[in-house]
Amino acid sequence: MVDVTRKYALKWMGGMALAMGMGAATALAQSKTKPGASDALIVVDVQNCFMPGGSLAVNEGDAIVPIINQLAKSFQNVVLTQDWHTPGHTSFASAHPGKKPFESVKLPYGDQILWPDHCVQGTEGAQLHKDLSIPQAQLVIRKGYHQDVDSYSAFIEADGKTKTGLDGYLKGRGIDSVYVCGLATDFCVGWTALDARKLGFRAAVIEDACRGIDTQGSLAAAWENMKRVGVRRMQSGDIA
Ligand SMILES: [Zn+2]
Repeated sequence: MVDVTRKYALKWMGGMALAMGMGAATALAQSKTKPGASDALIVVDVQNCFMPGGSLAVNEGDAIVPIINQLAKSFQNVVLTQDWHTPGHTSFASAHPGKKPFESVKLPYGDQILWPDHCVQGTEGAQLHKDLSIPQAQLVIRKGYHQDVDSYSAFIEADGKTKTGLDGYLKGRGIDSVYVCGLATDFCVGWTALDARKLGFRAAVIEDACRGIDTQGSLAAAWENMKRVGVRRMQSGDIA
């Protein structure tokens, strides 16, 4: 009788250990996010002008290309964006006599940082990086093509009201969560994630698949603003 009880107890303990082991393995697997049909990856402005050697180079901008290529394999839905300015665009310092790049001006819609000329429509600099390889990408959305309005965000132009149409596209396809990567973290990526939240999407930024410009504390400010509205800060390794 004692033996039977002991055997039973041992078996029970063994079962418990097995269950706990499996539980730990399951928990580990569950800590990774597996994107599905209602998720989209938004790859922001991986364009030549933002690469080392480009007119508005982001430090290590090219380092994210292989990371994004790998990351995109986890997503059924991928949207690419291109900054797509007219020649002499209002966001260019060259369009404001006496102003230099990275200075600011007041425009009708608010403060505008002035940039070197970049991503002019149809130019080599506006092309996507040649090594970006996401054949399943379904949409390329261009932004910043209105002469007098900039657009960091892939959703809403810098006037705060003109939509690019991306939210309608995503909602029309039943997509409610976006994962944002690309260039640059503190401008086009960050503003895209902020607007995604504003428009009712869940949003995450994949930090190691982005690089920042970081002018006048802009990178820390961007992360703070994103945190405040519930943008998740993730790494590419968090995606299954
Ligand atoms: Zn631009």
